Amino acid sequence: MQTIGLIGGISWKSTAEYYRLINQLVLERLGGVHSARLVLHSVDFDEIARLQHADEWDQLGEIMAAAARSLEAAGADFILICANTMHLVLDAVEAATRLPVLHIADPTGAALAVQGVTRTGLLGTAFTMDRPFLAERLRAVSGIECLVPDAHGRADIHRIIFAELVKDQVTPAAQARFRALIGELAAAGAEAVILGCTELVLLVEPGVTYPVPLFDTTALHAAAAVDRALG
Ligand code: GLU
Repeated sequence: MQTIGLIGGISWKSTAEYYRLINQLVLERLGGVHSARLVLHSVDFDEIARLQHADEWDQLGEIMAAAARSLEAAGADFILICANTMHLVLDAVEAATRLPVLHIADPTGAALAVQGVTRTGLLGTAFTMDRPFLAERLRAVSGIECLVPDAHGRADIHRIIFAELVKDQVTPAAQARFRALIGELAAAGAEAVILGCTELVLLVEPGVTYPVPLFDTTALHAAAAVDRALG
């Protein structure tokens, strides 16, 4: 079994989900009392969020690069950045380590392609929805086109992520807005919606039927890590 390196704390809530899913999948695959070989470098999200909103991506790249180097030194075989947004500084991370970095968009695109989806909605932070890094990767690697909500919808989901989800808070109002945005994306022609922020799965309500299938980047990324670790 290879050792998985996680850059986490972006936010801690979704990193906890990665940790749970990865261990659960290793147990399912190997049985007994197996668990994952894993190294976690967890950052202080307040600093990250502040730099993101100040547009300080070079500094964010340096922080992520230092995290990658520490994972390499600690014996990781490959690296996951446990967020969509921070893939914006993927180049800085890849330049800092000889370890492969498993891109969050690739298992997501592969899962959509298996379902025959060619046009998907994308929900995430404003950074992820407004900038091309994730949509372009999905188009280049998996041939999938992304639709995003209108400016009002993008602002709402961004605010919900930073004001509530990263603090482990989920409100009925946020769940209702999330349902409405999925409905709008489906009406605009999306055949699926990517939960392109690793906290968004918190808004999914058990028992609720959404108009199109949802693709959770956290679960897909975690599963890809286990596939790679177990070979
Ligand atoms: N976890 C998030 C993501 O997947 C958002 C937190 C951040 O802005 O880094 O994009």
